[in-house]
Formats: sequence, C-alpha cells, structure tokens
Amino acid sequence: MTARIIDGAATALRLRADIAAQIEALSADARRPGLAVVLVGENPASQVYVRNKGVATRKAGMLSTEHRLPDTTSEAELLAQVESLNADPTVDGILVQLPLPGHINVAKVLAAIDPEKDVDGFHALNVGRLWGGEDGLVPCTPRGCMKLIQEVEPHLRGKTAVVIGRSGIVGKPMAQLLLAADCTVTIAHSRTIDLPGVCRQADILVAAVGIPGLVKANFVKPGAIVIDVGINRLDGEDGKSRLVGDVDFPDVAQVAGAITPVPGGVGPMTIACLLENTLIAYKRREGLA
Ligand code: NDP
Repeated sequence: MTARIIDGAATALRLRADIAAQIEALSADARRPGLAVVLVGENPASQVYVRNKGVATRKAGMLSTEHRLPDTTSEAELLAQVESLNADPTVDGILVQLPLPGHINVAKVLAAIDPEKDVDGFHALNVGRLWGGEDGLVPCTPRGCMKLIQEVEPHLRGKTAVVIGRSGIVGKPMAQLLLAADCTVTIAHSRTIDLPGVCRQADILVAAVGIPGLVKANFVKPGAIVIDVGINRLDGEDGKSRLVGDVDFPDVAQVAGAITPVPGGVGPMTIACLLENTLIAYKRREGLA
C-alpha cells in the first residue's frame, strides 16, 4: 500500500483564506482582530516563528503587534508587559513565544495571560475547559491535527487512537480532542512498554515526540492515519540542514492509509489555527459568537 499524502500546506491555505474572507466581510467601521506576540531574547528559531506569525496575521487582515524584549528582561517586567496587553482593548490574542529564558517562570507567565486572550490555549482555565468539554481556546497544533484527521476520516466515533507524547502543548490536548470525538484513546510515552505493539492497535496514530524517524512501518496498522507532529532538524552531508518528523516517512508510507509529510503537514496548520483562535477570541469579545 502507498499512503495518501495529507497536504497540510494546502489545508492551511484554505483555512487562512476563509479567515481572511471573514475579516474582509466585517463592516468598514468594525475594529480588526488583533494578535500581540511577545518574544524575549534572541533565540533564532523563535525569531523566525515570530516573524512568520506576524506576516500571516497581517495577510489575514488582522492587526499584528510584536513586543521584542531583551533576554535580560526580568519576570516582573514580562508580567507587566502581559498585564498591559490584557488591558489593551485592541488586542484579542496574546502569545508569549516559548521557550523563555531560564530565569523566568513559564507557568507564572502563562497564568498571567487573560484566558479570553489565551490564543495558545495553555492557560489552566482553558486546559480545564478542554478536559471538561466546555468552550475554550484549544492549543493550535492539536487543533490543526484534528482538522487534518477529519479531512481524511470525518467519522471518528469508535476509532482507536494512539498519541505518542504527553506534553501539555501537544500530546495531552491531542488525546483529549480525540476522546471528545469519541475515539478510544491511549497516550504512550517514554516509559511505555512495547511501543510498536501499542501503536499497531491504532486506526489513528499521532507522533509528538521529537525523535527523528522513531515511528517505523512495524508501528503502523495497515491503512491507519498517521499524523507526524515532530519537527527535527538534521544536518545533511552537504552541510545543509533539513527538517524531518518523528515518522520514518518512506517506510511508514508503505503501510499507512494516509500520512502527513514534514515539512508541509502539521506545521502550516499550527499558524492557521493560531489565526483561527484569534478570530474566535475577537468574535467572543465583540459579542459576535
Ligand atoms: P516534549 O519534549 O515536551 O514531549 C515529548 C514527549 O515524547 C514526552 O511525553 C516524552 O515522554 C515522549 N517521548 C520521548 N522519548 C520517547 C520514546 N523513546 N518513546 C515514546 N515517547 C517518547 O515535546 P513537545 O510535545 O513539545 O513536541 C514534540 C515534537 O513536536 C517536537 O519535535 C516538537 O518540535 C514538535 N512540535 C511541532 C509543532 C508543529 O507546529 N508542528 C508544534 C509543537 C511541537 P515522557 O513524558 O515520558 O518524557
């Protein structure tokens, strides 16, 4: 079998076009949705992410503001910045780019973000809402994965799903979304016994680990949907680096029914879902949803 390739880049473009159309359709005197991104320090990968988010936000017709702070910024200064964005009526979404410098308590900063502006969905209130089945803001990467899964298989009820990885950013919210869609869900992690055997039960297998090529063909039930969240940078022999996922793509594509590539799979969906979360936050604040 050769798997269908799930084109996350194309799906993300469609979602972004839909968001842009909704913003365009706002009345001329309506306020535009606004996303504020806070970056502390000079992490090169974070700088690229923040730049890409800014471009995507502006392309969608939203107001984009970037707050770049030096890595000597104290926790109190960062908390003051968050407070000022909480109070800013033109800001609907606040994203504090992670990782933060070691001297700053990440949990404290995330807890300071107004939950109604928490477009990353990391605030404890939004985590609780997700687990309680209430409306909240859902973390962008798992939200994007669900859209890709549902594109291939809209009827998820009763399917067996395995999520490898239990982080609060990807693994746990991913499992919760699959559970909410009536899947029977297993969360695997570094202490799981017989990982290939556990994964082989899955109709839907999501890998969010950070180990290049961990998932081989012997992890995959024939015909399964395989979603590769991993982003790993490998140095090639030509001196150039390339991105690979957690899934051994050529090997797994022989067995799976559908598979996301890296790059061009989950990654583009994360930014598109950030814009969608910002629009949702805007609509709620404006009483439109
Ligand atoms: P974390 O490091 O927070 O979590 C990794 C998880 O993988 C942990 O739960 C860990 O288990 C588990 N794990 C580690 N080794 C193994 C193993 N040998 N077998 C099974 N499980 C293992 O990572 P994140 O969740 O933040 O990110 C995961 C990957 O997804 C990374 O590559 C990251 O770059 C990527 N990512 C991609 C995004 C995108 O937009 N496409 C967005 C966010 C992340 P344990 O808990 O036991 O330690």
